[in-house]
Amino acid sequence: MDRYRIKPGSQVDLSRHDPDDRSAFDGDKAAGKAETAALNGRLEALQELLYAEGRHKVLVVLQAMDAGGKDGTIRSVFEGVNPQGVKVASFKRPTPPEQAHDYLWRVHGQTPGSGEIVIFNRSHYEDVLVVRVHELVPESRWRKRFAHIRAFESMLGDEGTRIVKFFLHVSKDEQRERLQERIDDPRKRWKANPADLEERKRWDDYQAAYEEALAETSTEQAPWYVIPANANWYRNLVISRILVDLLEGLSMRYPEPAEGIPDMRVV
Ligand code: ATP
Ligand code: MG
Repeated sequence: MDRYRIKPGSQVDLSRHDPDDRSAFDGDKAAGKAETAALNGRLEALQELLYAEGRHKVLVVLQAMDAGGKDGTIRSVFEGVNPQGVKVASFKRPTPPEQAHDYLWRVHGQTPGSGEIVIFNRSHYEDVLVVRVHELVPESRWRKRFAHIRAFESMLGDEGTRIVKFFLHVSKDEQRERLQERIDDPRKRWKANPADLEERKRWDDYQAAYEEALAETSTEQAPWYVIPANANWYRNLVISRILVDLLEGLSMRYPEPAEGIPDMRVV
């Protein structure tokens, strides 16, 4: 899955990343879904082991344009994983107390503890994305944030957090179809939001902001992956593979049983 990883220090040109790419899988959609289902099972077992061992912490950052599929990713990739072992933290427009603090204040408190997986649905990256596009703070302030974020994530990494960051890359046409579907489908209409259309007008500004953020903050310890996300099944498959690889790479073991465990057949 290395093909989707942004190498530290490299430039990012999103127009060179195809949102329809399927090159990491030979089969069709049904076969892709079958592999994802199998990976779900492995993820479930690995999460259990992560919790039992209690040594590592895992942070998954999800970023995307509106209707980019963050919610669907969480639903599908973590299907079957014990809800006790996974936490989702969603970052919306900051509340007044959050506004009154630095932008990492609300983020740090949501990071995973030992044995936990936390998924960030949006994240501190909003503070160099929406904040930049809407000029909510001057450039002299948001530009320094790339360095803050690298340092913050490096600190988390040094203290035992494995970080992986996914940008769900959809095309502008695909976004239009998804936003239209939110209007047409009565079960999705609650998600339709006029603000999304306003944001869509700034598509190019967002793409540029993403390109710089990904280039500035993809590190060995906290890499970004640009996930082709026009097809949900492919997106789910690629993310599942990356997460399973990451957890398997931790070489976890169940801890030794406590001393003095009796044999229940003889007590
Ligand atoms: P969907 O993709 O389904 O639309 P969502 O993640 O956009 O879901 P919403 O409740 O629609 O969820 O939007 C949350 C909004 O909060 C986004 O527009 C996001 O840009 C905004 N937001 C998040 N963090 C910040 C921040 N630090 N400053 C300003 N706005 C923020
Ligand atoms: Mg939204």
